[in-house]
Amino acid sequence: MTRDQPRIIAMHSGDNVAIVANDFGLPEGASLPGGIRLRERVPQGHKVSLVDIPKGGEVRRYNVVIGFAALDLPAGSWVNENRLDMPKAPGTTGLPISTNIAAPGPALTGHSFLGYRNANGTVGTRNLLAITTTVQCVSGIVDHAVRRIRAELLPRYPNVGGILSLEHIYGCGVAIDAPEAVIPIRTLRNISQNPNFGGEIMTVSLGCEKLQPDRLFPEFEIPDLVRLQDDSNIGFEAMIRTIMETAEKHLERLNRRTREPCPASDLVVGLQCGGSDAFSGVTANPSLGHASDLLVRAGGTVMFSENTEVRDGIDQLTARAATPEVARALIEQLSWYDAYLERGQVDRAANTTPGNKAGGLSNIVEKAMGSIVKSGTAPISGVVAPGERADQKGLLFAATPASDFICGTLQLAAGATLHVFTTGRGTPYSLEAFPTIKVSTRSELARRWHDLIDIDAGPVATGETSIEEMGQRMFQHMLDVASGTPTWAERHGIHNSLALFNPAPVT
Ligand code: CA
Repeated sequence: MTRDQPRIIAMHSGDNVAIVANDFGLPEGASLPGGIRLRERVPQGHKVSLVDIPKGGEVRRYNVVIGFAALDLPAGSWVNENRLDMPKAPGTTGLPISTNIAAPGPALTGHSFLGYRNANGTVGTRNLLAITTTVQCVSGIVDHAVRRIRAELLPRYPNVGGILSLEHIYGCGVAIDAPEAVIPIRTLRNISQNPNFGGEIMTVSLGCEKLQPDRLFPEFEIPDLVRLQDDSNIGFEAMIRTIMETAEKHLERLNRRTREPCPASDLVVGLQCGGSDAFSGVTANPSLGHASDLLVRAGGTVMFSENTEVRDGIDQLTARAATPEVARALIEQLSWYDAYLERGQVDRAANTTPGNKAGGLSNIVEKAMGSIVKSGTAPISGVVAPGERADQKGLLFAATPASDFICGTLQLAAGATLHVFTTGRGTPYSLEAFPTIKVSTRSELARRWHDLIDIDAGPVATGETSIEEMGQRMFQHMLDVASGTPTWAERHGIHNSLALFNPAPVT
């Protein structure tokens, strides 16, 4: 094995730290570009001071103060979470409002994918039968029925890509009249209408639960409702038979759907990261930001999320808000989330994980700066409250917790039909209702997880590939996967559970 030349990456000329790029880090005494010698071993992705930083001095990355030196950090020191004091979160008043609205790039035409067009004009990337459940009590029965449907019915409907249960732990034992209960309820309502399900709503209810079907879907007569406690369901087999018979009617209709060419403007993509490391903000997320800009220029919809991972950059977001109303909506969502965290006696700093820190991210400020860049540079044209459906195009901020499952679930409710997920530490996360393209921030991870990671953004760190080239590749891959190319997770048939966000009490 040839020994790598020591490589470091600084994000901005105003930074006084850079991260070590070499796989497995660099040893004490290593000579860095610029002539600095490492005073100690520094792991991959971790920061090294480029100048003498005195105790209390600003530590800058992304040209932002990510912390203050907790001790003297002479040039060549390892700068980690134990050596940094975290700055306070920026306030929510006096922010720049719509002061940094990027000029739109030239419209991008000629890009299309093969999607499933729905009667209401939305377009799915998959053709799935989803069974909505009103309460967890029915899940065992529905799960059994789903397995039977998959084995016995699905082979007769080759145009249907799969069947899934919209399973959750909500529905009963909860304070359903609490003001914030609207969030889980509308989330479930809107997920049931995700474009990947073709407008086919099928619901299984228990009967006695708090979340009654007409409370879940107040705006229309519920077609094909199966209620397990109905007198007609005598025993287990009758319940399974009723679900299977109802499902078959939906399969017949879904089977008539076929893919047709659709412009890229019909695509709705949710962006997320999880298991982040210091490379997230260097390779995968800036490339995804470029891909996001391309999709916005093509007229599509992109949503970024994760409240705690944008909170420290609130000023960047309000400045990018297309209108003062959008800025106000952003501030309202992030302020509500501050109050939500405060009720639990924590703040946005509760976000970072041991893995983030091992990966070089010292605190939430540094993590947030790397997370925000996946939103690219386009103006933010709308804000989607948790569980609401997005009703406009362009770059949207969908306000969600950063929890991978909850964020993904809320993006599904918002109408995302495709998910792009960047990871540095590595997580096999994906959801069943939309294809989840996984992007690694480092090539070492992509090599180890060769049959889980869909795109390796690592070559950006070595300079073999530019951010623009990687972003272009991601954009094309989004169109391919939207057209039916399976992700690794789809090939293996693996997925995680939905997780409804319920900020209201349980009883
Ligand atoms: Ca996340």
